[in-house]
Amino acid sequence: MPDASRPNSAREKHDTEAVAVGIRVRPLLPKDIAEGSRECLRKVPDEPQVVLGLDRAFTFDHVFEATAPQDRVYAECMDPLMQSVLSGHNATVLAYGQTGSGKTHTMGSSATSAEAALQSPHNDSGLFHESVGLIPRALHQLFLAITDRPGVKCTAKASFIEIYKEEVLDLLSWTTETDQLATLPIREENGIVSLTGLRQRKVSSVAEAMNVLTEGARSRSTGATAMNATSSRSHAIFTLSLELTSSGKTVSPKVNFVDLAGSERAKRTGASGERLQEGIQINKGLLALGNVINSLCERQSHVPYRDSKLTRLLQDSLGGNSRTLMLACVSPADADLEETLNTLKYANRARQIRNKPLVVQ
Ligand code: ADP
Ligand code: MG
Repeated sequence: MPDASRPNSAREKHDTEAVAVGIRVRPLLPKDIAEGSRECLRKVPDEPQVVLGLDRAFTFDHVFEATAPQDRVYAECMDPLMQSVLSGHNATVLAYGQTGSGKTHTMGSSATSAEAALQSPHNDSGLFHESVGLIPRALHQLFLAITDRPGVKCTAKASFIEIYKEEVLDLLSWTTETDQLATLPIREENGIVSLTGLRQRKVSSVAEAMNVLTEGARSRSTGATAMNATSSRSHAIFTLSLELTSSGKTVSPKVNFVDLAGSERAKRTGASGERLQEGIQINKGLLALGNVINSLCERQSHVPYRDSKLTRLLQDSLGGNSRTLMLACVSPADADLEETLNTLKYANRARQIRNKPLVVQ
């Protein structure tokens, strides 16, 4: 069978310097079945490979079929990444895919799922409920590792922002005059990009970090409603910044969890006027992200990070000093074949990025 993507042998199995790419296929939903959709995507047994339609095969670092539970996704791609955060490296997890493909389910970043995960994360056997997404699971792993470690001093701060129509909004900060989310200007000094006025909450337990996630997720949906939009049209970035000191040495790793805006093309939604304009602005980040990926793959000297707020803020994570995981979520329904193909192609490009060798500052 022809393989449209790069063969696995072309990269080392545990290549810490690459952008790792996982595909997660969601199950057919009742609405797909009601519409008469059939599955048009299957995983090749024992291979990290998917086949779309009859013969379009793509290989990735990880492939999770529709029946794969969250704990498998976590164990296979998140656990090693969080281990690396604990040893001082930066990490970024990007959830990419069309609206309805499972990004928020995978990340666990909706207000409902974050609230449930805050109140009752575990079942009677002490395992996470299936509805608990990757962010809460990562917070549990990180806090378990950093709390009460003899000889290690640790502080953690959480922030939560969204990018909507090329504006950075602080999900933890409402301005009283306008009753809207605070807008944050981007500042760049000596090549370091930061957000002026960003709210960073000190968090000293999983519960405190989960409170920040929940609060931000709620703001995201109320903010979107106030703007007459839906949260699928914005990129959301939840960041945990750690400071770990032991034997007089301090490391400050940062982990970004990014729930990207839906990747579907504007033409399919039949948008016009203001909605089309909105679509163009929203797609700007994803388009720029794609262009950054392309120029990194082609090793061009100019990488167009500055083309969007998203790529400016993620500059360090793409081609920089960070480990990056892209989880591309796809629908198996034949009605979504075109978008699924676009996602597989986009994700396949991302697999070829190489970040700089990791150095712990
Ligand atoms: P997105 O954030 O990409 O728009 P969602 O995460 O909201 O998509 O998922 C759309 C729907 O599909 C939700 O009802 C969600 O519960 C369901 N879903 C997504 N992925 C899975 C999965 N792996 N297992 C079960 N249900 C899923
Ligand atoms: Mg979503």
